[in-house]
Amino acid sequence: MNSFPHFDVSQLDRPVSMPMMVLLVDDQAMIGEAVRRALASESNIDFHFCSDPLQAVSVAEQIHPTVILQDLVMPGIDGLQLLAQYRASSILRDVPIIVLSTKEDPKVKCAAFTQGANDYLVKLPDVVELLARIRYHSRSYLAMQQRDEAFRALRESQQQLLETNLMLQRLMRADGLTGLANRRHFDDCLSTEWARAQREQSALSLLMIDVDYFKAFNDHFGHVAGDDALRQVASCLNEMCSRSTDIAARYGGEEFAMILPGTSPGGARLLAEKIRLSVQALAIAHTMPSAGSTVTVSLGVATLTPSADTTPTQLVQLADQGLYLAKHKGRNQVGMAAG
Ligand code: GH3
Ligand code: MG
Ligand code: MG
Repeated sequence: MNSFPHFDVSQLDRPVSMPMMVLLVDDQAMIGEAVRRALASESNIDFHFCSDPLQAVSVAEQIHPTVILQDLVMPGIDGLQLLAQYRASSILRDVPIIVLSTKEDPKVKCAAFTQGANDYLVKLPDVVELLARIRYHSRSYLAMQQRDEAFRALRESQQQLLETNLMLQRLMRADGLTGLANRRHFDDCLSTEWARAQREQSALSLLMIDVDYFKAFNDHFGHVAGDDALRQVASCLNEMCSRSTDIAARYGGEEFAMILPGTSPGGARLLAEKIRLSVQALAIAHTMPSAGSTVTVSLGVATLTPSADTTPTQLVQLADQGLYLAKHKGRNQVGMAAG
């Protein structure tokens, strides 16, 4: 059974205390030094200074900043262009950016926010304000990251739950020994197909298949070999389901059934005969000399077009009567009761 990835939902409420990483992009070493000094005594704030704006995006992608302090006027590249590049990067798309400008200009401010800046400061602001903004933006970024991670884990566990449920449903429908549809699933399918055939007024055929002298087989070869023989017969039946609507099931013990929607009595009889020959061709050695000392099956065939006064149980009974006839006439044959 799969183990679910678990995550701590309480993390969503927990105050964010993870270390913050500030990246300053500015061509002036003096500004770099001033910010470094301002942050030096802050134990949970790491600082990285990038003086080459052309390297800014790749540096940022490597160090994963929780906030970027971005100068606007630099040689070689416009700070506004850099903002667009950060936003185009899948790694940096959501990292908060505080623009550091030399002047309080509404037009520049407007352009910066349009390009994706989150905040705007005239440099250099006093230390208290700078720290407050760095903390505010870093914390909300980290909280958003944690929330996204929690939702990702939640989605993943929902997906696994879905897959596990599907697997459980498959297991609930399958017979443990042979992998064919089990009795419960057979009953469900028979009533579904019966209702469909009634709606469409089409023929529904059923084969009941019983292994001949199987008690003697078990007595002689043991139950392990008996189980193996049943698996071989089951896989043969599965292969004989030529149409996607045919359903092979283990009815119980050494009895199998096959539901054949939209199949005429003649078609069902033909398939029953093919199945009989295929099982014989498996050439599973037996002590009973019914058919050259190999395991054989007897089959009962029945076909009904459902009407208001017939039931699926009647179809099963009719197929059982056919099976009884086949056994009675000497086994390893197909029997068909008069409907
Ligand atoms: P017939 O030709 O009349 O069908 O004779 P039979 O011996 O096959 O029929 P009977 O009903 O007397 O015995 C069925 C035997 O099938 C009994 C049991 O030993 C065997 N059987 C039923 N289920 C299983 C199973 O899951 N595994 C094994 N190994 N044997 C099983
Ligand atoms: Mg039997
Ligand atoms: Mg039986």
